[in-house]
Amino acid sequence: MFEQERLELVNNLRKKGITDERVLEAMLKVERHRFVPEIVQHHAYKDIALPIGYGQTISQPYTVAIMTQSLKVQPGDKVLEIGTGSGYQAAILYELGAKVFTIERNMELYNKALKLFDELNLKIAARCGDGTIGWEEFSPYDGIIVTAGSPSIPRPLKKQLAIGGRLVIPVGDRKTQVLKILTKISEDEFKVDEIPYFAFVPLVGKEGWNGK
Ligand code: SAM
Repeated sequence: MFEQERLELVNNLRKKGITDERVLEAMLKVERHRFVPEIVQHHAYKDIALPIGYGQTISQPYTVAIMTQSLKVQPGDKVLEIGTGSGYQAAILYELGAKVFTIERNMELYNKALKLFDELNLKIAARCGDGTIGWEEFSPYDGIIVTAGSPSIPRPLKKQLAIGGRLVIPVGDRKTQVLKILTKISEDEFKVDEIPYFAFVPLVGKEGWNGK
C-alpha cells in the first residue's frame, strides 16, 4: 500500500539534501501510514508533521531523515530515543540495524506504540517514563536521539553516551530550536555541530521543561 507515494517522498527528501542512502532506503521500507491515525493516513507521505493525539505529533519526514542521518547509525549500535510518540522514528532506527531503546512519557502513546511494535514484529525495548534522565541500565549508548525540544542538554544523556557516540537534540525555546549534534570526545569533552531551525513539541521532564 502507498508504495508510489513512499517513493515520491523519498525522492523529495533526496532533493532536499538527504544524502545517506541507507536512511533513504529505511524510509522507503517503513510504512509511515501505519504510525498515524486512520483519519490522516492519506497525508502520511506528505513531508509534514501530523497529529497523533494528546497534543503530540509524528515529526516531519525531513526532520526524521536529517536527525537519523546526523546520528550515523551503524548496524548493531545501541541507540536510545527519547519521545517514542508514534514509534516511527524508532522503527527507522530498527530498520537500520540498531538495537533500539525508546522512552515515552505519555502512557496512552506508549501503549499504542508497544502494540504496533508487536504487530509489526519490531523488537524494540520501550519504557514509559521521563526520558530526560535517560535509561541508565543499558548505557552507554552509541547514539541518543531526542525528538522533543529542550531548553538545554540533559546531563544524564551526555553521561549515558559512549565515547565516540552521538547525541542529537533540538535545543531552544518552546517555539523554535536548533538541532545540536554532539560527538563525545572524552568524558567531559564534546564536539558540537548545529543545524537551524526546527520546531518540536516540548520535552517535559526533570531535565527538560519540567512542566514550566
Ligand atoms: N519520535 C516520535 C515519532 O516518531 O512519532 C515523535 C515524537 S513527538 C515530536 C515528541 C514526543 O516526546 C511526544 O510523544 C511526547 O509525549 C514525548 N515526550 C516529551 N517529553 C518527554 C520526556 N521527558 N520523556 C519521554 N518522552 C517525552
